[in-house]
Amino acid sequence: MLIIQGITKTYPNGVQALRGVDLTIGRGLFGLLGPNGAGKSTLMRTLATLQAPDAGTVSLDGRPVLDDPQAHRRALGYLPQDFGVYPGVSALELLDHLALLKGITDRRARRTQVDALLAQTNLWAHRKHAVSGFSGGMRQRFGIAQALLGDPRLVIVDEPTAGLDPEERNRFHNLLSEIGENVVVILSTHIVEDVRQLCPRMAILAGGAVVREGVPDALVDEL
Ligand code: ADP
Ligand code: ADP
Repeated sequence: MLIIQGITKTYPNGVQALRGVDLTIGRGLFGLLGPNGAGKSTLMRTLATLQAPDAGTVSLDGRPVLDDPQAHRRALGYLPQDFGVYPGVSALELLDHLALLKGITDRRARRTQVDALLAQTNLWAHRKHAVSGFSGGMRQRFGIAQALLGDPRLVIVDEPTAGLDPEERNRFHNLLSEIGENVVVILSTHIVEDVRQLCPRMAILAGGAVVREGVPDALVDEL
């Protein structure tokens, strides 16, 4: 269970990106819907402990996560909107390296997990190919594999399906649903259909605050 309480953030330029966000989110897929500029990415980066808020707390399964992010790095998986990859580095090499950074120091354990994730994300046949040459859909699936390293209990996915063709979008949806069976997954997006198809529960963020929370079919009709 993820409990977000009173998260506020004002950027140095004076933009108030978050104005007291409270959310309680259980296992499964949770949709965070909102227009551009609503504060979604700021909230996602905060949950991923990449950016400190001005105030507020986040707890995951009863443990506060913002005070000591290092202690929770394996509990958190983050798929950012854009992630860089080193040219020429293969999916296998990159995942292995990222697994090491996540603190999976045992070589065999790392290999077992990396192989399983490559299979789960349908990238096994491409494991020796450079991620920099992947198509958009493959790249997103690689992003999921990377986010799942270390068996996180919270997976944060920021605007994932932009630019994917319908088939890749479907594959990606299925993958997310599978992951949501075991952990908390937050899907941040401005695409209503993604949330309607995937998420049993959702919230609408606007102007840095949660303006609605509930079941997608009831909420999106109001939009
Ligand atoms: P969303 O992801 O919903 O589009 P963001 O969290 O990216 O929203 O942005 C919320 C608001 O904060 C926007 O007005 C945006 O321009 C502003 N913002 C985001 N990042 C920064 C930053 N690093 N510095 C200043 N303002 C920012
Ligand atoms: P999003 O699609 O999440 O709204 P943006 O295009 O707003 O993303 O932002 C892209 C990057 O630029 C982010 O790293 C964000 O922090 C930064 N950014 C956004 N708005 C501003 C701003 N007004 N001033 C400085 N940086 C910003």
